[in-house]
Amino acid sequence: MANLPGIVITGASGRMGQMLLRTVLASDKCRLVGAIERKGSPAVGQDVGVLLGGQPVGISVTDDALEVFARAQAVIDFTSPGATVEFAALAAQARAVHVIGTTGLEPEHLEKIAAASRHAVIVRAGNMSLGVNLLVRLAQKVAQALDADWDVEIIEAHHNRKVDAPSGTALMLGEAVAEGRGVSLAQMRDSGRDGITGPRSHGAIGFSAIRGGDIVGEHDVMFATAGERIVLRHVATDRSIFARGALKAALWGQTKDPGEYDMMDVLGL
Ligand code: NAP
Repeated sequence: MANLPGIVITGASGRMGQMLLRTVLASDKCRLVGAIERKGSPAVGQDVGVLLGGQPVGISVTDDALEVFARAQAVIDFTSPGATVEFAALAAQARAVHVIGTTGLEPEHLEKIAAASRHAVIVRAGNMSLGVNLLVRLAQKVAQALDADWDVEIIEAHHNRKVDAPSGTALMLGEAVAEGRGVSLAQMRDSGRDGITGPRSHGAIGFSAIRGGDIVGEHDVMFATAGERIVLRHVATDRSIFARGALKAALWGQTKDPGEYDMMDVLGL
């Protein structure tokens, strides 16, 4: 057991944090060595098992990331952009693999993450599920096969607590379509239509976001032209798909050289 890679989960009381704790505790390929929450969180000091509504497991949630990272081989992090940048520096210092599921990262965050990846393995993906990563590849291939007379619209739906839009997955899909077409997403992106928008611009990659209830995550990539439409769809019904993907990435990263990787690398797609 002591030889198995030690994993730390950040954002332990979050939706994904709890799912990740359950996944790591149930796995026979790794062991949980720590759980992190922000200073002042009511979860700090609580036993992880109790936090999950079960029996104590002998590991308490802490706000001292550096101390715990030093004892870990991997950190799995689904929190917020500001926290993730701090965790990236600390994980690099500890030479632990840092798996980043946090979305909504801006260029200034990505720069800091890139700097940390000079010293340690970082696996970052806006979506850690096998199905979505396959969908990304399919969207790229379909975009490559069709010309810009096919309008592309990416429609995503998530629960009402999600704070960023379009979702990280929608942006991954948009990047894949842009790559397939040989254009830049930044130039072709069209999100947040409202009011008198005028006709759709030729070649635009459109985004729409639906927010409601407890929707885990749904993504459509629609290719529409005169007389026909193709819709590629992924529906996530359970957050465990992201947690399993993230754990797979943490284990995969153990034998890799420092650098930034994504789930395509992990899944060999
Ligand atoms: P959530 O329920 O709000 O959980 C985030 C957790 O992180 C909260 O417990 C939060 O604590 C904690 N946190 C924030 N700052 C922290 C800090 N400085 N130190 C320690 N903990 C901190 O959100 P979620 O639904 O789990 O999603 C988290 C992130 O993962 C989002 O960016 C989401 O888009 C992304 N996500 C990615 C994937 C993927 O496959 N890549 C899948 C699902 C979700 P407080 O409540 O105290 O702020």
